[in-house]
Order: sequence, then structure tokens, then C-alpha cells
Amino acid sequence: MDSITKTAEIVAEGEHLIGSFGAESEGPTLMVFGGIHGNETAGVRAARRVSEKLAPLEDRLHGRVFLFAGNTRALQKGVRFIDEDLNRHWTDANVTRNDLGSQLPPQFSEDREQMELLAAIVPVLSSASGEVFALDLHSTSAEGVPFATVGDTMRNRNFATKLPVTMILGIEEQLEGTLLEYLNNIGAVTMGFEGGQHYAESTVNSHESLIWLAIEAAGVIKKSDIPDADYHAQVVKKATGRPEILEIRYRHEITENDGFVMRPGYENFQPIRKGEYLADDLSGNIRASESGLILMPLYQKLGEDGFFIGRRIKPFWLWLSAVLRWMRIGDLIHLLPGVHPTDADREVLRVDTTVARFFPLQVFHLLGFRKRRWTGESLTVSRRRHDINSPFTKEG
Ligand SMILES: [Zn+2]
Repeated sequence: MDSITKTAEIVAEGEHLIGSFGAESEGPTLMVFGGIHGNETAGVRAARRVSEKLAPLEDRLHGRVFLFAGNTRALQKGVRFIDEDLNRHWTDANVTRNDLGSQLPPQFSEDREQMELLAAIVPVLSSASGEVFALDLHSTSAEGVPFATVGDTMRNRNFATKLPVTMILGIEEQLEGTLLEYLNNIGAVTMGFEGGQHYAESTVNSHESLIWLAIEAAGVIKKSDIPDADYHAQVVKKATGRPEILEIRYRHEITENDGFVMRPGYENFQPIRKGEYLADDLSGNIRASESGLILMPLYQKLGEDGFFIGRRIKPFWLWLSAVLRWMRIGDLIHLLPGVHPTDADREVLRVDTTVARFFPLQVFHLLGFRKRRWTGESLTVSRRRHDINSPFTKEG
């Protein structure tokens, strides 16, 4: 395995914009982020390469491309983060505090990063006159097949299916405060991409090729105008294999004090059986709560996710949920017993599962809702915003 160095010496502190291309007239906007986790430099390197090659093509673009570096201070040190994970930092409270014009001094290094990123992103969003897409590039501690993480809106699904990648739905439901969740709630079409092992040269290649495919899928450039377009499609296809669609079923959350250690040898997408001995922590053996595929097993010190368990989704269920969402069946679900709206727009529902015991979470997923939390017998779900219509396009 060819490997790359562990720090991105190419990024200066606070310098988030790697490159911006295209005029602010009409057409879609694509924002690409690399290095939101500072030990994941491959995305930044890939964005640099694309930036150099895009410059001479600028007059061929219909729309705009922005390439951003994420956690610049952590990238310089080659660490995941300085004080707090920047990809868990995009909660409403943090964004409000760190938004433009806030006079409060930053508490953490990541507050500073967030302030700088908001100052870069907000003008891009407010000047958009067509659809807005966001691609967030990551890498993993273990080696494995690259894949895309997709918040389950119809618009996100449609974008991801244009790319030859395996799609994992519903990860945003398990995590709070990701950059893409913030952008998704504003109305952008979003996709995360785990491109391979942190320090592998092949990860940079996968990221670079995926950026090119995303620029085309967003409609900013024609395939015939991309240098080596077929090569980039081949790189992604070869790295990712046959595209599949999976859903997240379980997240094993960890803290620094758990003493979590993954058992060696697990790779992304490796099948596991219920009860399989996967890891250890201070309280003993950790076994699989259900059968499925193991995703993102943690083999580094820092992180809040020990591993995930996913399952393949049958095409029928995807088709059914698309039909139900287009029919807006979710508008009626509050009429069922045990389902209580908590706001006037019926965007957030509280489900008394002692009454509505026949509506498991999967039913709400089908209809375009995501889990917020379980409190005893009560399940709170909220409708995924901007599921079908874009707030950025005239038709939306
Ligand atoms: Zn990451």
C-alpha cells in the first residue's frame, strides 16, 4: 500500500477555501469538504488536485464549485480534532453562537473553525440560484470498501443513485451535529463519502474521482468536458464494487472512558451473526445485537462510534417509501391512535408505543420521518425536511 504523510502541510490555519469556480449567475452549486476530521487528509489532497485541474475549465462550467478544507488546526497537527469533534459540532446551539456577527469569544478551537466555515458557507448558500449539493469526504481507520452515507430524503437518494457507490441510509439519525445534517436541514442535497483507509494513496484517488463524478452528477459540468471522465468512473467503480443500498440498524456509542477495543480483523461490510463477539470494554465482552453487516469498526483511539450494524434494503421497500412520500401519507399519520403532533405543522410527532405498538420505527422511516429519541415508552420522530422539494430552486 502506497501511503501518504499524516499531516496536510498544504493547509494554513483558518484557510478553508481551497478553490472556487464558476460564476454567480445560474445553475447548481456543489460544495465539497475534506478534512472535517483533521486526521483525514485524503479529501483535502483530492480537493487540491481537482482545484488545479478545474481552473482551466472554468468557462465550461454551468454553475459553481467550492472546495473547502474542514478542521484546519487539526489538519495541521494530523489529529481528528483539537477540543471537540467538528463533525458533531453543528447543533442549533453551536451554529447560533458561532454564526456571523456573534460577538462571543470562541470557547473551543472547533468554535473558531465553525465560525470561519460559516463565514465561508453562508454567503454561498444565500447567493445560490439553483440546487445546492454538498459532498463531505471522510476516511476510516480500518481498510475497506468505500461507501456513501446518505440522509434518507428522496432528493439525497436521487443524487446518490447517479453515482456508482454503495449507499448507507439513516446514519444521520444516529449522530447529532454533523455538518451534513446542518446543510440538509437548510435544504442542500447532501452525501458523505468514506473513501478508504486514512493514509492510503488509493483513498486520495477515490476521493478525487468521486469529486469529478459529483461535479457532473450535480449538473455543473458535462461529462465530455471532464478530462479522463471514463478513468474517474472506473476508479470509483473498481474501488466500491457493486452498488448496494443499506440502512443503519444499530450504533455502538462509546466514550473515552469505556476502554473500548475492537477485536482485530473486522472490515467494512463484513457479515456478522447475532451474538458474535465483536469487541471488549471495561464492562466485558460486546456482542452483536443482531445479524447484519459491520460498518466502520473503530481501530483508532478517538471517536464516539465503536461500530455500526447495517442491513441491505430490498428495492421494494425503497420503491414503496418513494410512493408513500410522494402521496404525502405522512401528513395523515397523526390521525392514528397513540401518535401525537407536538407542533402546529405536525413536523415532530410523539408516539406512545404502548398504544401505537404496531408502528415500529421502520414505518416512520418509510414515510420520511427520522428518530429523535426514545424516552421510556415514548418515541419522538421528526419529518425529514426538504425531502422532495428544494428551497433553492424556483420550482421548489
Ligand atoms: Zn471522518
